[in-house]
Amino acid sequence: MSKDIPYKIYLEENEMPKQWYNVRADMKKKPAPILNPGTLQEVTVEELSHIFCEELAKQEVDNTTPYFDIPEEILNFYKMYRPSPLVRAYCLEKKLGTPAHIYYKFEGNNTSGSHKLNSAIAQAYYAKKQGLKGVTTETGAGQWGTALSMACSYFDLDCQVYMVKVSYEQKPFRREVMRTYGAKVTPSPSMNTEVGRKINAEFPGTTGSLGCAISEAVEAAVSQEGYRYVLGSVLSQVLLHQSVIGLETKAALDKYGIKADTIIGCAGGGSNLGGLISPFAGQMLRNEADYEIIAVEPASCPSLTRGTYAYDFCDTGKVCPLAKMYTLGSGFIPSANHAGGLRYHGMSSVVSELYDQGLIRATSVEQTSVFQAAQMFARVEGILPAPESSHAIKVAIDEALKCKESGQAKNIVFGLTGTGYFDMVAYQKFNDGEMSDYIPTDEELQKSISTLPQVNL
Ligand SMILES: *Cc1c(COP(=O)(O)O)cnc(C)c1O
Repeated sequence: MSKDIPYKIYLEENEMPKQWYNVRADMKKKPAPILNPGTLQEVTVEELSHIFCEELAKQEVDNTTPYFDIPEEILNFYKMYRPSPLVRAYCLEKKLGTPAHIYYKFEGNNTSGSHKLNSAIAQAYYAKKQGLKGVTTETGAGQWGTALSMACSYFDLDCQVYMVKVSYEQKPFRREVMRTYGAKVTPSPSMNTEVGRKINAEFPGTTGSLGCAISEAVEAAVSQEGYRYVLGSVLSQVLLHQSVIGLETKAALDKYGIKADTIIGCAGGGSNLGGLISPFAGQMLRNEADYEIIAVEPASCPSLTRGTYAYDFCDTGKVCPLAKMYTLGSGFIPSANHAGGLRYHGMSSVVSELYDQGLIRATSVEQTSVFQAAQMFARVEGILPAPESSHAIKVAIDEALKCKESGQAKNIVFGLTGTGYFDMVAYQKFNDGEMSDYIPTDEELQKSISTLPQVNL
């Protein structure tokens, strides 16, 4: 039977999703509303529209519409690199000697090298449609900025990227890809913005964080005519766009009559995980099927496993709306873990609520074990994985090894979010045996969690 399943399951063009799925519509208990940071009242679409494009602001607060048509221009762009393959990891299964069947949805098959292009193109489209001049954003490891610069050049929009300083310095190649696509890239914290100057004064020599780069990008957007801010993760609108990952995965599995048992994704801000699991979680919420869903985060930045479920700022500068989420506190600056895309203090409010309801479980892993998994995967499956994605690989391997012990032949599906060609400094550290595993102490976490805003709702 299993031999009938090809190495790669593709979808025909007419089998590709034409709509995004909004899992919030099927949640009985909805994610908590986002709040205006000034008034601590529920934010209106009107207020959000000062920061975000109008259509995206509407998507952000829509908890009821289950399906959104994907506009034709976005569908056409998707056709250039989608469907992404769902790969049966025959070689990894053989290497592990497991009876489990392992599948991975590979999102690294585009120049940006990750799933982030799925939302970047949508956000650029709505900005263009609104007649804007350009957009501003932050980028951590650089994947989001790269994706957005590609999307903006496609729609001829100006693209201003605040890049976390440590990545700007460690990852000059990603920076140059962005510039090649026409983006302006500034290391953050910079001296261009008020919030950047303040953070530089308070923490001299800081290598920055995503939260702080977000604050700078928001300030840059609201202080320039015809600009809006766009964000590559965390927001509910981003999860909506990323549902294309899960919808394709489900269509591909259904095509071969495969029922997933365990679904695994790495979790930074929660967008790939949220997108991958959306249609499956929807089935669980409607009592149609059951799955084991596992979110994997770095032990250095453990928002789900060690954070608090509370309202918090999405950014260090406290200019973005407040969201209720599992968080380590917006002032938490994680150690320089090499999985830059997972260094965020909080977690999508949709993923947080699903986790709180018990639909998802979470686990954290240390980076040397993650790179061991990455190395094994690269050697047997050929793809050189991104450090972020390798968190999911690590747990998929652990689950497959449990199956080897128990003799259970379950179907494991994981999200392989991207490639690691721009992360060779991290691989070099690992290959030289110089990688360390920094895990924050309870005191450190307590310190940043104690600064959460007081919200009485
Ligand atoms: C950004 C990124 C992630 C983490 O972001 P999520 O919003 O949690 O999905 C994971 N993998 C890759 C390759 C990324 O670029």
